[in-house]
Amino acid sequence: MLEVRNLTKVYKPKKGVPVLAVDHVNLRFPDKGMVFLLGKSGSGKSTMLNLLGGLDIYDDGEIIIKGKSSKNFKQKDFDSYRNTYLGFIFQEYNILEEFNVGANIALALQLQSQKVTDEKINQILEQVDLAGYGNRKPNELSGGQKQRVAIARALVKDPEIIMADEPTGALDSVTGKQVLDTLKKLSRDKLVIVVSHDREFAEHYADRIIEMSDGHVISDMEYFGEEVDASNEGLTFGSDSILVAPQYHLTQADLDAINEWLEVKGNGGTIAVGNQSDSYVLRSCTPTDESRIIPQIAGAFRLIKSKLPMRNAFKIGASGLKHKKFRLVITILLSCVAYGLFGLADTLASYDHINTCTKSIMDSDINYATFQKAQFYKYNGLMEGIWDSSDSALKDEDFEKIEKNTGIKVVGAYVPQTWETNDPYGNSVNTFQTQYDTGYEFTKTDYHIYAYGFSGYATLDQEMLDASGFHLIAGRLADGSKDEMVISSYIAQTFMLAGYREYQENEESTTRYETIKEPADMVGKTIRIDGVDMEIVGVVDTGFDLDRYKSLTEENKGLNSMDLILQTALNGELQKARELSFLQMIMVGDGYIQKVQERNSKICKIKPEYFISYHKGEEYDFYPDTLIRLDQIDQSKVIWLGEPKKSLSKNEIILTQDCLEQAAEMKGIGLEELLKDPIELNYQLGKSERVGEGWEEETEFEDTVQVVGYLPYESTSFYEGVVLDDQSFEKLAYSEKGKYTFAIGAMPKSASDVKKIVKYAYTGKGGVRYTLQNSVTYELDGLDEVFKALSKIFVRVGIFFAIFASVMMATFISSSIAYKKQEIGILRAIGARGSDVFRIFFSESFVIAMINFVLSTTGVFIATLLVNRLARRSTGLLVTILNFDLRQVGLLFLVSIAVAALASFLPVNHNARKRPIDAIRNR
Ligand code: ADP
Ligand code: MG
Repeated sequence: MLEVRNLTKVYKPKKGVPVLAVDHVNLRFPDKGMVFLLGKSGSGKSTMLNLLGGLDIYDDGEIIIKGKSSKNFKQKDFDSYRNTYLGFIFQEYNILEEFNVGANIALALQLQSQKVTDEKINQILEQVDLAGYGNRKPNELSGGQKQRVAIARALVKDPEIIMADEPTGALDSVTGKQVLDTLKKLSRDKLVIVVSHDREFAEHYADRIIEMSDGHVISDMEYFGEEVDASNEGLTFGSDSILVAPQYHLTQADLDAINEWLEVKGNGGTIAVGNQSDSYVLRSCTPTDESRIIPQIAGAFRLIKSKLPMRNAFKIGASGLKHKKFRLVITILLSCVAYGLFGLADTLASYDHINTCTKSIMDSDINYATFQKAQFYKYNGLMEGIWDSSDSALKDEDFEKIEKNTGIKVVGAYVPQTWETNDPYGNSVNTFQTQYDTGYEFTKTDYHIYAYGFSGYATLDQEMLDASGFHLIAGRLADGSKDEMVISSYIAQTFMLAGYREYQENEESTTRYETIKEPADMVGKTIRIDGVDMEIVGVVDTGFDLDRYKSLTEENKGLNSMDLILQTALNGELQKARELSFLQMIMVGDGYIQKVQERNSKICKIKPEYFISYHKGEEYDFYPDTLIRLDQIDQSKVIWLGEPKKSLSKNEIILTQDCLEQAAEMKGIGLEELLKDPIELNYQLGKSERVGEGWEEETEFEDTVQVVGYLPYESTSFYEGVVLDDQSFEKLAYSEKGKYTFAIGAMPKSASDVKKIVKYAYTGKGGVRYTLQNSVTYELDGLDEVFKALSKIFVRVGIFFAIFASVMMATFISSSIAYKKQEIGILRAIGARGSDVFRIFFSESFVIAMINFVLSTTGVFIATLLVNRLARRSTGLLVTILNFDLRQVGLLFLVSIAVAALASFLPVNHNARKRPIDAIRNR
């Protein structure tokens, strides 16, 4: 059944000479019987046994098992060979402390994929005289009991071969005897190979003794024996030996009988002295005749691959977590941070700006589509750059592009630069507050929902009226050649509530307000805009639902935080609609906007790159920015600081009074004092330029200009103004002719059309795009940038942490392996393969991974909730910004498992490749 040919093992220590531990040994073992490997310490017995069991790798020769040569065996084949045919018993018991006695025994069966029954376990325990010990823990057992558990474990799978290395070495002689008795019993139908240095035991139990010295077999004897009745008086003659009763004295007749017996036998024998026991074995030996052992024919050999049940792997693995608790906690914390950052990065990265915008637009019923032209400025930081629309006016070709790409009709809206941003929400509004009763109580809260001025000019012709779906509810459209306009029914609302009167030059006018019953009553009335009385010729219903916002003006106590968010949201929506839709537009006829621009080119803003500043270089720079031509002012109102002039020269300016007041205030002196000092009247003309692609500016002072007069408050309708000579005006004036502030159209009704517009609004081409302007996009754009930047940071930091966590995890597993080497060795000796070992450590990492998964998932979930809440609060939009869904849960799960697998695979792989004997010896 088992045969070795030419078996050789050389130990090559790093230092010192190689040791030939097993030297070209040839042996053939029988199918049953008890074979002892006997020899002094260091003679090569253990090495021999380990080679026989496939625990160690030989250098030369072969092992033949059931007729199959081991020549082509790999490590895993040796593992399966042990699993299938071998029961191994060590000197140091080697049972798993994590499991009770029954489970230790069951493990051997489970590795063979055999069914485990209590009956079977109990039966085995009975065989080794441990009946009823199944639920005991190993640490409650004596050495002899432990060794018998090890024997039971070897026995339970009913192996054909049992190998035992010094099984009694750690036991006292009585328990040692019990163990050997057990093995002897087993050898009746199994091959039992026992390593021992105890000749007495060997000669007593062996059927064959192979004696080794220096790696050689120096003697090989077969033992025979018979049981005789030891209670006989005198001598008892067996076939090979003679038993002498205790205290017996040989007579002459006995001597003769012995001589006769020896003569008949012819080859010597044993004379044994009996003890008190009832029976005794008389023994004799002859040199082993291996030719009597018939070699087995090939084909009987079949291997069972081991398979450690996951439950057991898990149990052994999880027990490893009890050690190095601090390290474990740190490992888990770091991994959680890593996974958390990953999860968050993915959540942020999967934020779908287009869909969120589309959905929010639909949800908020935004019925206008307003585009602003924006240019891209690169930015050297986490953000790639920003789209800036601060000074990008639109021209006719821009409208064509927008119409072509979005499929909706848009018209240009013009907001004169000189209009003050005097609206509480920062919008440019030209007020008509002198024409209605401002004493009327429009609101009981801080929110204003009614119009008190216009936000700009837009052309409303028949084509736009049809495209927009607006209804002309009174009058007609405006004629562009006259000072005519159409207003929205929303504007009319203000007058319906607070009455109407004509524009009054005198602010303290007591003229009564006329009652307006319905929008149509506004037709024929005039409103003064930039000094022009515009006649209202029609009123349109722009489909605006004012009721949606009425709750803002009603006193309401006991609002919860969600109501407050809702209010902010509603207000933001309304303000954007007022600023950017037809709602507050002066709706004029074709060509009228050009007329307004013509008019305004005489009073306009300074070009963005130029500035006129007070006190160059000092902390309180102050810039007037409205330019006025000399012929646009009433020169009789000018207060000249020297001689009155008919015209200004290149370096002379006239300022509005407020400019001088501010300068005086900055200096901490009165106006009178300031005017006395000519130096104080020096202003600087400068130019600034953008440097590179960033935002840095370089400024340069070109000239000093002298204030020669000022315009007192009553003489002008504008502030921060500067009057220049014609030449300087041409150079510095920002011309608005042919330019529009934004493009305005009607938002389509279907989600797919809205999406198309939203998509286009975020598609930049050649550094230019047409940004959709409304409360939704306005608020969400900022978030998008932040999310992009954050997700980049999170991914980077996350990767860093993940690497760190993997390393921590790997070292944790490594240290755990070092701790468990013994156990791995035991499992390997029973027949567990490398993959079973991997299962154990993977289940250990798996436990860690699951803790990580649960913690980090919870963390990301909470973070997402917080971000959503924060986003709602800061944008005032009632949308869910971040979605933490199955995708992120799945991702976190995969990442956790992958890291765990990797962290256990590398150290375990290294370990599983080792020879089992190294694992057992804990090397
Ligand atoms: P025994 O079991 O008979 O006491 P061993 O098989 O353990 O003997 O050892 C045989 C010889 O091999 C001895 O000289 C021993 O020192 C040497 N030896 C055993 N194991 C190793 C090893 N791992 N490395 C180097 N030499 C070894
Ligand atoms: Mg030994």
